[in-house]
Amino acid sequence: MDISKHFLQSQLDHKSSKSLYLQIQELITAKIMNHSLPPGTKLPPERELASLFSVSRTTAINTYRQLEQQGLIQTKVGSGTYVADHSPNALNTSLPMPWHQLFSPYPQSPVSSILRELVSTPTSEYNISLAAGMPDPKFYPFDVFSNLFQKNSSSIDLNDLGHISTEGYAPLRQTIAALHCNKTTMPTTPDNVSILSGSQQGLYLLSKIFLQPGDCVVVQSPTYIGAVQVFHNAGVRILTLPANSSFPFSLLEDYLIRYRPKLFYIVPTFQNPNGRVLPLSERQELLRLAARHQLIIVEDDPYSELYYNEPPPPSLKALDNHDGVIYLGTFSKTLFPGLRIGWMVAATPVINRIALEKQYVDLHSSNLSQWLLHLFLQEEALQTHLVNVRKEYKKRRDAMANSIRRHCGANLDFSLPSGGFYLWCKLQTEVTSPVLLHEATKNGVSFVPGEAFYTDQSNLKELRLCFATHSEDKLEEGIKRLAKTLSSFDQQHPGPIKSNFATRPMI
Ligand code: PMP
Repeated sequence: MDISKHFLQSQLDHKSSKSLYLQIQELITAKIMNHSLPPGTKLPPERELASLFSVSRTTAINTYRQLEQQGLIQTKVGSGTYVADHSPNALNTSLPMPWHQLFSPYPQSPVSSILRELVSTPTSEYNISLAAGMPDPKFYPFDVFSNLFQKNSSSIDLNDLGHISTEGYAPLRQTIAALHCNKTTMPTTPDNVSILSGSQQGLYLLSKIFLQPGDCVVVQSPTYIGAVQVFHNAGVRILTLPANSSFPFSLLEDYLIRYRPKLFYIVPTFQNPNGRVLPLSERQELLRLAARHQLIIVEDDPYSELYYNEPPPPSLKALDNHDGVIYLGTFSKTLFPGLRIGWMVAATPVINRIALEKQYVDLHSSNLSQWLLHLFLQEEALQTHLVNVRKEYKKRRDAMANSIRRHCGANLDFSLPSGGFYLWCKLQTEVTSPVLLHEATKNGVSFVPGEAFYTDQSNLKELRLCFATHSEDKLEEGIKRLAKTLSSFDQQHPGPIKSNFATRPMI
């Protein structure tokens, strides 16, 4: 049957992000559903379908494959392709739902799934995971939260447990604004604060309000995987700044002039993964450059309160008098990730626009978490807690560093970070970090290979070890296992092996 008359008015959109085969599939589906192409109609062979829509034969094949998987057409060997009987009675209800065909197009990031793996993979009794960046559950101040709950639950205003404003629980916004006011040159009011369900949500919402496919963003290299995933998902081009000994201002300026990037994402304090701190003079120069070019700076700051020597320099937000810095904070590292409370400090128009976007996702963050957290902050319990965890994490950092020196010797190089959760290590042997991981997991220890933190080149000689989650004894045991794995390679001298890090679950 000549079906071309049904598609005379149909145009494919060659600029759309939706593939051509999906567009043709939708056109044919619509005709099948409205019975313009009734069951039993013979459809043209693939070559004719291709010429009808002026597409390649592969596109036509994919279209038919798609329709067939949906049960809308049937191929009869030696006879041709026909519209299937898709009446409810005729439908083969045993066909599985073709979920992958039904999802909207998804720009898959090369680091997709790594973050999910890192946060969700349970560690076995035997395995010592130095991979996920998590505080030690032993330090969660749950007893304080529990006491606060018992003491205050009878006086809670039940209205506070209904829907509240998307920007957050007003007393908590007030408390966080006051905390920032003590540190910033610009006044911070509750109107500059939005409570988030973790700072990861802030990154996602910022991508929704600022970024479109084809935009450029600048990131450090290496940088936090969760941010890279969000930017990949937004379809933007990622420009990278290498972690040189001094900040690469001329490269950034070149990017600003050449590509007009929408924003610069930076973790300036105890960076994840490399633990670096941007010095004060470079913070000031960066802010001057950003103001000159009207560049948005997204300052992601989960670790600045976790310092083990001197406090770090003031945040970019604190130094910013141009109001171009958008600050993201979180209680996931200082308290516990399950609170799912982070916050954003930014110019009021940004906070208002974020609220519009956030309400599509979750209306507002958990009231119960916000109410408890507010009580916790009011009692000044955060400072007491921080003094304690700084002391403990410093001991762990030193324990891990000493174990590496003792057991790995010249095979593993690192510089001691003055805060945060991570030792960023460089392999000084033949073996690459993905291959090392593969063997290390057999010996009961895991880590994140460095390539997970890069978007540009693959660096196969680096790895990130988290020292925060385990006791000193367990860290010593973990490093011993790593050292044992490393020395097994010393004996073998294997050649380089291609990594399959992007597709294989890591831990
Ligand atoms: N930014 C950085 C740099 C992080 O390391 C993390 C957590 N690993 C996040 C953001 C996300 O934290 P949250 O739990 O607040 O979403």
